[in-house]
Amino acid sequence: MTAAAQQPLSPGSAGAGLLERLVAAVRPEFRVELLLPDQDDPVLGWKACAVAGCDRPGHDYELCRGHGLRWRKQGRSDRAAFLADPGPPLRGRVELTGCTVPGCRYGSSGHGLCIRHRDKWQRAGQPDPVVWAATATPLEPASYPTPGGAAPEARPLRTSSPTASTTARR
Ligand SMILES: [Zn+2]
Ligand SMILES: [Zn+2]
Repeated sequence: MTAAAQQPLSPGSAGAGLLERLVAAVRPEFRVELLLPDQDDPVLGWKACAVAGCDRPGHDYELCRGHGLRWRKQGRSDRAAFLADPGPPLRGRVELTGCTVPGCRYGSSGHGLCIRHRDKWQRAGQPDPVVWAATATPLEPASYPTPGGAAPEARPLRTSSPTASTTARR
């Protein structure tokens, strides 16, 4: 594989643009728009998380960041026991679900509730979320995005940067 690395570019190839000359210098396996290296690639490969079915790269203790965090939160419990029961799939690896309050059209942010219903539920003392959701009312109709894409509320956006576009000079 290393023998082909020193192929000289032919300086006299008239008409060949810079891109063609650059591509010619790149090994064929890298001449792609999107490079997806094999997991067992000796240079670009990675060791998968030790949790069965998890496709994220494993780092500390051969666990991905999400599973490593869970394991540490459990006080670095028995590793075999953790691997046997690592809990539900990690965020980003499950289908998005909706708020369980009847009529609410926002996505769930935890405990089956959207972020605003979750806030109300927490202020109610965190009862059984299923029971609470069944009796809760949806938000005011104006709170939901309209199909036309109009902003639900005219609240000022919080920006952390003073270089927001509204401050552009003319
Ligand atoms: Zn994992
Ligand atoms: Zn909701």
